Amino acid sequence: MKYYSLAGQAPVTDFRTATLQGQAPDKGLYFPSRIPVFEKGFLDSLPRLPDDEMALQVMKPYVGDCIPEPELHRIVCETLDFPIPLAEVCRGIYCLELFHGPTLAFKDVGARFMSRCLGWFSRDNDRRTVVLVATSGDTGGAVAHGFHKVPGIEVVILYPSGKVSPVQEKQLTTLGGNIHALEVSGDFDDCQWLVKSAFADADLRGKVALSSANSINVARWLPQQLYYLLAWQQWPHRPESPVISVPSGNFGNLCAGMMAWKSGLPVAHFIAACNANDTVPRYLQGGGYRPARAVATHSNAMDVADPSNFIRILELLGDDETACRKVMSAISISDADTVDTIRRVHQDHGYLLDPHGAVGFLALERWRDAHPTAMGYFLGTAHPVKFPDCVETATGEPVPVPESVRQVLGGVKASVPMPADYEALRAFLTGMG
Ligand SMILES: *Cc1c(COP(=O)(O)O)cnc(C)c1O
Repeated sequence: MKYYSLAGQAPVTDFRTATLQGQAPDKGLYFPSRIPVFEKGFLDSLPRLPDDEMALQVMKPYVGDCIPEPELHRIVCETLDFPIPLAEVCRGIYCLELFHGPTLAFKDVGARFMSRCLGWFSRDNDRRTVVLVATSGDTGGAVAHGFHKVPGIEVVILYPSGKVSPVQEKQLTTLGGNIHALEVSGDFDDCQWLVKSAFADADLRGKVALSSANSINVARWLPQQLYYLLAWQQWPHRPESPVISVPSGNFGNLCAGMMAWKSGLPVAHFIAACNANDTVPRYLQGGGYRPARAVATHSNAMDVADPSNFIRILELLGDDETACRKVMSAISISDADTVDTIRRVHQDHGYLLDPHGAVGFLALERWRDAHPTAMGYFLGTAHPVKFPDCVETATGEPVPVPESVRQVLGGVKASVPMPADYEALRAFLTGMG
């Protein structure tokens, strides 16, 4: 498989180089040169096919010969080693629960797959690869756990001191080993600025092999297709196709689902479930693509005004606004409706949603108001315990704490304090040698 840059100014490359570079040299996103079509019989055999076999078949064409098949098999086994059940919430609406991984968020799958690919590609390097990331909370934890104990890789995570939740901070700072947490006196923008400065520092890059774990990386983006196949495997209303509601921020997850659909997966319709950050809903209503400023909401992992992966969706659909409206709708959900949905679904159905899942649920419910016979699922992208304040306000009850979180909260925090000063970061990175 070849990958080209959507900015059109970089050479075509393979999976290995696209993964190692993250972003193309012309600052464009990489896109596969063709979309594989599922082999005849593959979809019919899904209910009997073990998850690792399914994952291997889906990912193999994208990886090509960059990773030998037995190695790719090991990677997908390690990527999918937690349950991803499709749970019924109420009649006609199911939740694909993606929050049973180590950091209780769906980003675990992409982060794990990518970390193991990077580990494989760095195995012959005489110096270790340093993965550098800034996080506002969730991404850092998934990346830290994804890369923990991967040989040949050191991970440096910058997070804003005092601005991440207690669970998130412990997920970043208690692993040790090859995971280094830098606690920056500043905000998320400072962390991001520090990371960008390091990537722009040619002298540093001559000394340290730097890499990113950015969400636009093909090795984080493409394995998210597997969610949709796992859902189809469990879909109780086959052969009827489901409507799929995806809580969306950067639109990587939704775009991955559309790749699977292009390959042949049955899907009745996609719904981009957005919070108040409604750039795509406005676009699909014919208002043009006009990103506003991002606003803060309860579903804060989706507080994105200019979604970086939307350009991939347009590429997939041939830049055709009409084609886009045919396969997908986008619905914007307010914070007030998010809280009310968590309360109502808990009360009526005994199911506890997190704010992101609530946006997905309500968007699907609104779609069904207009299409009463449609059945579907939404993606449960985070566990409610990650957003206890909002969920407890809605239900009036404390969120039950899973055993894995209790263990994390009991861990000992180890972080390196760092001023928002590039020379301090540079000294840390060169000192790792
Ligand atoms: C990242 C994230 C999203 C949004 O996913 P995208 O692929 O960026 O659209 C939704 N929910 C949660 C909990 C997330 O962490």
